[in-house]
Amino acid sequence: MPTGHSGAAASPSSSSLPSWFADGYDHLWYPYTQYHHAQAPVAIRSASGCVLETEDGRALIDGISSWWSVCHGYQHPYIIEKMKAQLDQLSHVMFAGIAHAPAYELASRLVAMVPKGLSRVFFSDSGSTSVEVAMKMAYQFALNHGHKHKNKFLSFRHAYHGDTMGAMSICDPEQSMHAHFRHYMPHQMVVDIPSDEYSFAEFDQLLEELKDTIAAVIIEPLVQGAGGFKMHSPDILAEIVRITKKHGILFIADEVATGFGRTGQMFACKEAGVTPDILCLGKALTGGMCTMGATLATETIFDAFISEKAECALQHGPTFMANPLACSAALASLDLFEKEDRLGQVEEIERCFWQRLPEFRQYASVKDVRVQGAIGVIELDSNGDDIRLLRAQLVEQGAWLRPFGNVIYFAPPFVISHKQLIQLIDAVHMVLGA
Ligand SMILES: *Cc1c(COP(=O)(O)O)cnc(C)c1O
Repeated sequence: MPTGHSGAAASPSSSSLPSWFADGYDHLWYPYTQYHHAQAPVAIRSASGCVLETEDGRALIDGISSWWSVCHGYQHPYIIEKMKAQLDQLSHVMFAGIAHAPAYELASRLVAMVPKGLSRVFFSDSGSTSVEVAMKMAYQFALNHGHKHKNKFLSFRHAYHGDTMGAMSICDPEQSMHAHFRHYMPHQMVVDIPSDEYSFAEFDQLLEELKDTIAAVIIEPLVQGAGGFKMHSPDILAEIVRITKKHGILFIADEVATGFGRTGQMFACKEAGVTPDILCLGKALTGGMCTMGATLATETIFDAFISEKAECALQHGPTFMANPLACSAALASLDLFEKEDRLGQVEEIERCFWQRLPEFRQYASVKDVRVQGAIGVIELDSNGDDIRLLRAQLVEQGAWLRPFGNVIYFAPPFVISHKQLIQLIDAVHMVLGA
């Protein structure tokens, strides 16, 4: 919807901001941002621990870990030390036909910690590409077995799997770009997550009908992220996996957001005791230091790609795959999970959420409150613009949270102190109470 000239509503005026802000503002294009009514972005000078320091000297407590990624807090000295050492030795080399220690060590360590049975790691650039690769693996797996009609995917309402073409096509049809891109992207099957005997019977029946056309079922286990912040139990997850496998359909777990302790255990799949055929990782993989994705597969999946025919090999290869610097950050992040009690911290955060979030039900505007691990969700009755307006009010309160859709969500760094967590929760009280 073209409405007048760019940047009108948000053009920075504050003289306390450095010149780079005014010089650059008109050259930047922000994600999902309608410039007509955009609020000015917050200029950040530096960050450490759970605090962002603004250019005008304020401190904001980060309640969302830069989109769930910065699990050890900002500028963790141990990760920085390891990355600096890697930077001095080898910051990048292409991966095709090359081996280097950081990638090999990372692959071995990931395989040792994910649900048993996943044995192969394909590195890529981001969460979205880890999902694209998973989808290509699943489709090519079927193709290599001679099933060329198994070219569709089944995903769930409220799903979010990323912004690239394949990933976008399996997101929630209403909470995503589906409506806009309907004439552009592939059509998939999106259904409600089954929740009782009746809906499971329906799901079973549906997969029976579709088993020759569906390459894989994909889900964000236990907690769906950006598509609606809905949660389901480990039992439901286990039953979905059981029915999917019964029909010979592959099961993909997208743990880009839930992986690395966020839901309570290292991986959400572990809470349900399930092993996916393919697992997607991203976000906190590098401790939030830089971008990287990984797609893990079982040996059965991998074996299907071995053939005399060159075209049966996996057809994917990002320029920066297995970037050594990103691998060194990921290795350091895994060290921290071993050396420091991150899962204990997640438990503490969860306990605090259970103590403090239910009290938000007192507000007429609050529809639901949900908690799983270090994820806290306050679902509101209204939608859209009013909720986006809360962002600036929260910043006024010293809290960096990013309400959108109809939720205010918390996904703080695991190292957050009890006091900081209470400050975040109190900030939300201040703005909802007002
Ligand atoms: C964020 C996210 C993605 C996409 O990751 P990007 O790094 O933004 O491409 C995919 N799946 C889930 C579940 C996510 O939360």
